[in-house]
Amino acid sequence: MALAHNLGFPRIGRDRELKKAQEAFWKGELDEAGLSAVGRELRATHWQVQKDAGIELLPVGDFAWYDQVLTHSLTFGVIPERFRPHSGKPTLDTLFAMARGAVGKERRDSCCGAAHAQPLLAQELTKWFDTNYHYLVPEFTADQQFELSWEQLFEETAEAIALGYQVKPVLIGPLTYLWLGKAKGTEFDRLELLERLLPLYGQIFQRLAGLGVEWVQIDEPILVLDLPQEWKNAYERAYNLLQREPLKKLVATYFGGLEENLGLAANLPVDGLHIDLVRAHEQYPTILDRLPAYKVLSLGLVNGRNVWRCDLEKALQVLQHAHERLGARLWVAPSCSLLHSPVDLEREDKLDAELKSWLAFAQQKCAEVSILARALSEPEAADVQDALAASRAVQAARAASPRIHKPQVQARIAAIRPQDSQRPAPFAVRIEKQRALLQLPAFPTTTIGSFPQTSAIRLARQSFKQGRLSEAAYIEAMQSEIRNAVSFQERLGLDVLVHGEAERNDMVEYFAEQLDGYAFTRFGWVQSYGSRCVKPAVIYGDLSRPRPMTVEWIRYAQSLTGKVMKGMLTGPVTMLMWSFPREDASREGQARQLALAIRDEVVDLEAAGIKLVQIDEAAFREGLPLRRSQWRHYLDWATEAFRLCASGVRDETQIHTHMCYSEFNDVIESIAAMDADVITIETSRSDMELLEAFEAFEYPNEIGPGVYDIHSPRVPSLEEMANLLRKAAMRIPAGRLWVNPDCGLKTRGWPETEAALVNMVAAARQLREEL
Ligand code: GLN
Ligand code: ZN
Repeated sequence: MALAHNLGFPRIGRDRELKKAQEAFWKGELDEAGLSAVGRELRATHWQVQKDAGIELLPVGDFAWYDQVLTHSLTFGVIPERFRPHSGKPTLDTLFAMARGAVGKERRDSCCGAAHAQPLLAQELTKWFDTNYHYLVPEFTADQQFELSWEQLFEETAEAIALGYQVKPVLIGPLTYLWLGKAKGTEFDRLELLERLLPLYGQIFQRLAGLGVEWVQIDEPILVLDLPQEWKNAYERAYNLLQREPLKKLVATYFGGLEENLGLAANLPVDGLHIDLVRAHEQYPTILDRLPAYKVLSLGLVNGRNVWRCDLEKALQVLQHAHERLGARLWVAPSCSLLHSPVDLEREDKLDAELKSWLAFAQQKCAEVSILARALSEPEAADVQDALAASRAVQAARAASPRIHKPQVQARIAAIRPQDSQRPAPFAVRIEKQRALLQLPAFPTTTIGSFPQTSAIRLARQSFKQGRLSEAAYIEAMQSEIRNAVSFQERLGLDVLVHGEAERNDMVEYFAEQLDGYAFTRFGWVQSYGSRCVKPAVIYGDLSRPRPMTVEWIRYAQSLTGKVMKGMLTGPVTMLMWSFPREDASREGQARQLALAIRDEVVDLEAAGIKLVQIDEAAFREGLPLRRSQWRHYLDWATEAFRLCASGVRDETQIHTHMCYSEFNDVIESIAAMDADVITIETSRSDMELLEAFEAFEYPNEIGPGVYDIHSPRVPSLEEMANLLRKAAMRIPAGRLWVNPDCGLKTRGWPETEAALVNMVAAARQLREEL
């Protein structure tokens, strides 16, 4: 009676087949026919898997080469001039060039007359709402024309129908699509393009109707954001026009609550609305009173963004209530597309049975959706009863499990006092003691932590993990890397040294592996962007640090040099943001536990004679909630977690933090409240403009604005970096500036790293002379 449907299925494949095929295609090892075949097979498998799990209406259009927003840009003909084919329609090469950049046609350079192949810069990549998925930002021009230019959606719809599936094509809605893009060239308002874009949706609906489609899903997740009034107004206009076109339309919202947009969304002239009740449970039951009586309501009750089994009984209570009001107008779905979940739990052969019984990946989530729908129509069916009983048992087991609930951790949390998140003395006092102890020159030079991760390093780590390299041999291999890194830095004349992070595969996993309360999957991959997938660690229980995690490496590194060695840790907020968190504990509670674990490490490093510790918070800014009204709460607990981990040390111990590229203006107060003695940030590409926020706020502590872009192999000149430093010194008093690259160097090669750092050290020396 209630329809079980899905908003989207992961496209990567249970063995990351898509990643492998795309990468082979890029290397020329697989031809286009081969790549297409892999795609076709994956789609067929995924439709079948969902159908077998009991999904009645299957998504199509969720498959994409590289990225679904990019597919839309091709579909609408939003192809930047530099990638536009000279004749005919765009091809797969056009698509991948937009995604990855390309080498352009040779052009005569006007200055020297020589022929240069111009690099064609890829479109910008940015975060998809508050997920760790990244999409390619559409580029619009003021005179943007739209034209149906890509057949993929129609082909795949026909493909699914030919295979006998009942499908619902998925499109990003016109307003969300425009919102996600950027105006290029002359300034203009993207909303002006709406009138031109809408006819394309009409054409698409016509063609889909011609294929025999009944429903289309139109994703409008921006309805959960704080929208400017013009954008809200545009909704009614747009959907009034689309109303005249064929097909039944389900508008899908997710990643948050509709809040003040609830009335707007409920009243759009479409046939159905999907809301996310995992993220925003409070929308229910309000929505029932606002929804016109003709409309379908799809409730997202199975979390599409996490790995935990759904509490079916809890979800069923909501559904039963909704069902009484809506009857067959009720649909059941995951909260959002399952793009953000790993594919298949059954693949996990190394997880212990208990832990595994608590988890559900995309395939299992589809089965949960289906069971929930069936529980309404056939409550007495044996499989429904079994599933509910199993879910109840899992919830009970987790609630009582001593693996999850650790009285010792909880007692420690309960005993936290306000002064634990407070350095003993204010910055002004600390910095004097630190300067006396560290004896650093003006414009001290340092790096952000990692040095090039060579294949030898990766091989050593892998061999050790697989038991092919003894522990002693592994330690020796890593120590040898540390020796190289230290002598390299001494030779270059850097002031504060790092050990190089050779032992770390990843800045979260390395620590997660050593903390109690974390589990690891073998196949829990989720697409991050393009062919890149991440396998986040799973926080399943109360977190603690059984033993030191980095102390031996750092102590060894310090023993090799008279220079100051920096301890290197990942902060609690970043640990949390880049993991699958618990659903049975608050995010701030988990951050606090992580903070205590990291605090222990900071204290141990200090006890081992380390004078300076960097605690990276790369994800601090990106953790901001989608809604401004929730910022205060987030910033408070995130700042508090950082302070808690950083405040266990003496005044003399200098705490650094590092953040990657961020917009600091709206969070500068919290950055200051973190009270790190030094913050290093990514700034070089902003021409030091990011420092404006620090300048305006009169940020009191020290700052290391990155003076070169580590994303590019290009070696910046001494003059270039000296100029950036002069610009920085116009905003921040020179006595508080550090000199460092934008971020870690692990993706760089040694030759360019050396050349760039030689110039960086020389630039710092030049600035000292100018003082
Ligand atoms: N210390 C880390 C490194 O150098 C920081 C990485 C990051 O900020 N993303 O690799
Ligand atoms: Zn960084």
